[in-house]
Amino acid sequence: MELIVFMKCVNLGLKVRLYPDEDIMSKINQNIGNSRFTWNKLLECYQETYKLFKFHGYTKLKCNMTTFNAMLNMLKKEHYFLYLSESSSLQQVYRDLIHAYNKFFSGEGGYPRFKSKKHDKQSFRIQNNGNIKINDNTIVLPKLGKIYYRTSKKYHEKLKNVKINNVTIKLENGKYYAVFNIKTEISEFSKTNKAVGIDLGMRKLSTLDNGLKIANLDVTYEENMIKKYQKRLSRQKYNSNRYKDTLKTYRKWIDKKKNRINDYYHKITTHIVKKYDIIILEDLNIKEMFQNIYNSRKLQRIGWKKFVEMIKYKAEIYGKTFRQVNKWYPSSKICSHCGYYNKDLKYETEWKCPQCQEIHDRDINAAKNILKQGLINLIDETMNLWNRGDSTVILLSWESISP
Ligand SMILES: [Zn+2]
Repeated sequence: MELIVFMKCVNLGLKVRLYPDEDIMSKINQNIGNSRFTWNKLLECYQETYKLFKFHGYTKLKCNMTTFNAMLNMLKKEHYFLYLSESSSLQQVYRDLIHAYNKFFSGEGGYPRFKSKKHDKQSFRIQNNGNIKINDNTIVLPKLGKIYYRTSKKYHEKLKNVKINNVTIKLENGKYYAVFNIKTEISEFSKTNKAVGIDLGMRKLSTLDNGLKIANLDVTYEENMIKKYQKRLSRQKYNSNRYKDTLKTYRKWIDKKKNRINDYYHKITTHIVKKYDIIILEDLNIKEMFQNIYNSRKLQRIGWKKFVEMIKYKAEIYGKTFRQVNKWYPSSKICSHCGYYNKDLKYETEWKCPQCQEIHDRDINAAKNILKQGLINLIDETMNLWNRGDSTVILLSWESISP
């Protein structure tokens, strides 16, 4: 059999650890602060203008690059410290704000919020205008200078030989990172002609329609250590040497937990995307509805979100099809064998269909229904395109219809 490998140009993120000295650290912090300040000021400006518009009977104020750029220039004249930032990093702020507003207006996202020093992502982004340089041990960034970095040999080579679109500098859990957005060529995963439905659960991370159950990763040990050092921190004198030592250990355990979960999710999601051409999950909103019933923690939801996002982007770059089924589809209550709707089903983990007598595992049954519904939706999509007279569609297989 001839093996055809499709090469594809994609944008990927590549994260490396930075080791800035005191001087650069304070410059990075200044940049992060400036981006946050700009975001908050522009958001305030827009809201004021919007109020005025509304008062005069207009409903929607369109976000426009030119307007925001003018606002930014005025801000800079008023607040001189903004000149300390690389100019593209502040332009990036209004691009992000426009993006957030567009998402809000299309119903995809919530209303843009003000950023606080404490809770939000601490970062800023610089566009590569030919002023980002990668050396053996250092990267050179505009207005910041030379910063030491460390990464694996493989990534090291890659960084030096690819096109860098932009770089985000981040402060996370007390450590500095650079995330390079790079343009690179990858080969798609080979096709397997298999489809899968996946149910996300509380007791198990996920259940596949073929009966495979994937366990949640047990991070109780890491969580206990985090709690232990958190307690110790609260008893120690703020910023004393002992406090600083404990803080270091505390952060180490936070990183350990995060890395273990990330590794685990990466392994599972890569496996799924390799093995299946069509991957159907349920919309997470329906899960949120059940949230109170299961009295689940916020953490579980974040876990699902991460898991789904990983599958989504891997499917996209490796040439597979990913879909989510409608949020009102009652995947747990329908008998996947005969289609009977069991309205009396509560939280039982196993049930017998009154119509066809089939005995169901709740999660496997849900996964089977999710797959079924997802495939029906895909056929609908294909038919709709076909009815519109889009002749190119007929030439495509299911697998190649991706968003
Ligand atoms: Zn049945």
